[in-house]
Amino acid sequence: MENNEMTQLRNEMDEINLELLKLINKRAKLVQKIGEIKQQQSMKRFDPVRERDMLNHIINHNTGPFDAGTIEHLFKEIFKAGLELLEDDDGKALLVSRQKKQDNTVINVNDEKFGDGKCHFIMGPCAVESYEQVEKVAQAVSENGVKLLRGGAFKPRTSPYDFQGLGIEGLKILKDVGQKYNLAVVSEIVNPTHIEEAIDYLDVIQIGARNMQNFELLKAAGDVDKPILLKRGMSATISEFINAAEYIMSRGNGNIILCERGIRTYEPSTRNTLDISAVPILKQETHLPIIVDVTHSTGRRDLLIPTAKAAIAIGADGIMAEVHPDPAVALSDSAQQMDIPMFEEFLCELVKQDVTIQL
Ligand code: PEP
Ligand code: MN
Repeated sequence: MENNEMTQLRNEMDEINLELLKLINKRAKLVQKIGEIKQQQSMKRFDPVRERDMLNHIINHNTGPFDAGTIEHLFKEIFKAGLELLEDDDGKALLVSRQKKQDNTVINVNDEKFGDGKCHFIMGPCAVESYEQVEKVAQAVSENGVKLLRGGAFKPRTSPYDFQGLGIEGLKILKDVGQKYNLAVVSEIVNPTHIEEAIDYLDVIQIGARNMQNFELLKAAGDVDKPILLKRGMSATISEFINAAEYIMSRGNGNIILCERGIRTYEPSTRNTLDISAVPILKQETHLPIIVDVTHSTGRRDLLIPTAKAAIAIGADGIMAEVHPDPAVALSDSAQQMDIPMFEEFLCELVKQDVTIQL
């Protein structure tokens, strides 16, 4: 007897499910028709006032047993699904996405073409400390065939009492040394109002990990015609990283090089944890070049060669690492910068690997 009742109730339930299904799809067709009219009239698809009216209307008719909050939640999901139906796939795709553009974006800086399938190098000191210090590194960098010199002039330090960088003076030093050795120069800018000024000094503007979600800075970077090196925030997901790049591209500047520089995890044996799989994920999901900063991701000199090899093997478009003429007395990151002989050995090891891969 009980079993019979159960079967009957279940049958009724199945029928109601099908009725709901029919009604949901009937509603979806109406949404599509309304969407067409809105498109013809260039009206926005989402109308929050109309949505609120519909929800109020429904809740006013609710007699339970569901409470108003639950009903509102359920109907909002239905409304959301309707809106999603209207957004065609192409329209939803981000400008930086592979879906939007199949071909790799190739960014040419000083004849180094990031995104062309080869590995390019950006080397130099953590911070610009003096003309002489930058020049020593620049000389070694250029003698070894590297074309891009890095050096921080505005240093976003964890402690306000640590060396903050030479500011514009540091950019001037970089530019002068860069011109002398035919090197393109890369440096971090932390303040949106400095972006315009930086254009005169820099070949690539770096946005650092601590500023990956500084949206005003991203917008300012998007408004200029200069390659941007965007570093992943130390606690940023890949999706947040991609959206940060989208901020820049949506303003019109598509010259963006992404940089994986390690993320913060519970593992204390390296400064950050190099998220090596971010490289192929970003290459699949975006059309932008992606480089790996082995210095800030590991914080350890002994790991620079193996992590750089891993980066090349996994398809990175470039490697960034720090070199200082005398790391022991460096004003920042003294534990992780290479000295010049070490840098030469580093390059030698990687070039060997590159040859092996090409065979
Ligand atoms: C840097 O490259 O100088 C730097 C500060 O790195 P990050 O922003 O990745 O910490
Ligand atoms: Mn550094």
